[in-house]
Amino acid sequence: MTITKTISIIIFLTASLLADIKVVNSSVGKNSYIKTLKGEKKSFVSTRDFVSSLSSRLYENAERKKLVLYISGKRIKVSAGTSFLIIDDVPYQMVDAVQEYNGDLYVPAESFFDILRKSAIPGLRYDKRKEVLEFDIIRYNVRELNIEEKSNGTIIRINTQKSFSDRDISSFINKHGWFYLTIVGGIVDTSTLNKSLTRGVVRKIESDQINETAQIALKLRKGVISHEWYQSHDPNEIVITLRTALESNTKRLKNVKERWRLDTIVLDAGHGGKDPGTSGKYGTKEKDIVLDITKRVGRLLEKKTGIKVVYTRTEDIFIPLWKRTQIANEAGGKLFVSIHINSNPNRKVKGFETYLHSHDKTAKAIEVASRENAVIELEDKKVNYEKLSMERKITATMASSMFLKESEALAAVIQEELDKVLTVPNRGVKQAGFYVLSGASMPCVLIEGGFVSNPSEEKNLKSPSYRKKIANGIYKAIIKFKSSREKILAEE
Ligand SMILES: [Zn+2]
Repeated sequence: MTITKTISIIIFLTASLLADIKVVNSSVGKNSYIKTLKGEKKSFVSTRDFVSSLSSRLYENAERKKLVLYISGKRIKVSAGTSFLIIDDVPYQMVDAVQEYNGDLYVPAESFFDILRKSAIPGLRYDKRKEVLEFDIIRYNVRELNIEEKSNGTIIRINTQKSFSDRDISSFINKHGWFYLTIVGGIVDTSTLNKSLTRGVVRKIESDQINETAQIALKLRKGVISHEWYQSHDPNEIVITLRTALESNTKRLKNVKERWRLDTIVLDAGHGGKDPGTSGKYGTKEKDIVLDITKRVGRLLEKKTGIKVVYTRTEDIFIPLWKRTQIANEAGGKLFVSIHINSNPNRKVKGFETYLHSHDKTAKAIEVASRENAVIELEDKKVNYEKLSMERKITATMASSMFLKESEALAAVIQEELDKVLTVPNRGVKQAGFYVLSGASMPCVLIEGGFVSNPSEEKNLKSPSYRKKIANGIYKAIIKFKSSREKILAEE
């Protein structure tokens, strides 16, 4: 006991004894003391010491014997001679009145701490018998989890408020592929941790508070060959490394080949149902011509190759544009071929052309694209386009850079093969911003097989044998494209 305290005892009422309450503040990590006036049944604690042990702000009105404490964003008023504690203008009653002593205000310990715990500091724990006050304004000491993906594994950083003893941390992976990390003495902020972003080999994060132990469970993908953890300080972190073997080159190549194998093709007959597409002078409708050509191409592929054919439509029905690429993507298509028939105000214009999707806009391309995109107006749920537009743009950008080369190669060979079977002009490969192509995550082209606005071409297109020719050209092009791609893959 210090001299000051000894003097205090003499000054203070004989019935009371001056003592200390030990304060354990786990968020600061150091202990402090609060002067206490200890009676036979009750103890009164120093408001000033309490505030300083919290490193909180205090406002003093000495004249009115009043102290205002600023703790955890609350304003707490303590006044001498009254048993009321005012927290944010709400009065709470303590069992005894506040005592004034030595320029300080002493509050009845038990009820003061109890009210504060319920209204302002949930982390406050007062042990009357041991005379220890524990508080933890920031209660969680396991607070955040971040995942980084590396070429040979995944690093997980768990932010902790303090260092734990290594003995209190343990980890293991169970047979169901869950990695468990347990921290004895850890208080985990489960709501934050469980919302952490999963990456790399981590598929799922589930944290739990089990009594005194924080448990963090991570559902892993296959391929983790080792796991280890260490603690790093400044900032306090538990760092977990989950190693995976580097994929061997041959295995990687095999995977790439498997991904690129042209096993599924999506054929998209343009328009349909309430959307007739363009039409000719003699009443030929684009939707009918293109459905027939598409079915012919599909039948040839089904009959003569092992390629799986997926149609966006096989009947005269309306399919929104967004739905067409959705069908293609969901089917895992490796090529998307959209078949259309063209139109031009100038009736002399004729020939066939193949389009790639592009964001570049030449006036001509815009004209064709705007006609083919016009169908969006007919669709009931326009909202889909607005909602998806950002996602679409990203997909489109990725797709066009990843698949543009392939699409170009396919378009070139389509033009080449159609040129062999048709006598009308080869108008070449063009680029335009076709909506129907924008969402396909695979090489994709749009064929305009002829001009229904040109009377002689309309006559041709009305004839089944001419449509068979076009279908044959497209079929041959696909076969050529497939074999040239497989040749490239075989060389690697
Ligand atoms: Zn069309």
